Amino acid sequence: MEAHSSFAISSLIRGIVFCIMEFPLKIRRTMSRRCEICGKEPLVGHSKSHAHNLTKRRWLPNLQRVRVIEGGTVRHRDVCTSCIQAGKIQKAPSRRVQKAL
Ligand SMILES: [Zn+2]
Repeated sequence: MEAHSSFAISSLIRGIVFCIMEFPLKIRRTMSRRCEICGKEPLVGHSKSHAHNLTKRRWLPNLQRVRVIEGGTVRHRDVCTSCIQAGKIQKAPSRRVQKAL
C-alpha cells in the first residue's frame, strides 16, 4: 500500500516536471505557411511514381520574411515572392544602407 502511494507521488512529480519542460515549446511562435498579403497557402496533391504509386505531397508558397513599411513604422511580414515582385508591399531599406546615409 505504501509502495503504491509513493509510486503515485513520483509519477505526479514526473508529470509536473514534464509540464514545466514542455511549456516553452507550446508558447513558441510557429511560422504559418501563409502569405500575409494575398493569403496564398500550401497546395496538397500527390507525387506520382512511374509505377503510379501515389503519395501525398505539399507545394509550399515561397515565403520570405521581409521588413515592410506600414504607416511609417517598420514591421516584419511573411510575404510570398510574387507579392514582393508585384510591389504589393513597400520594403524598408536595409539597416546597413540607413547607417551609411
Ligand atoms: Zn502573397
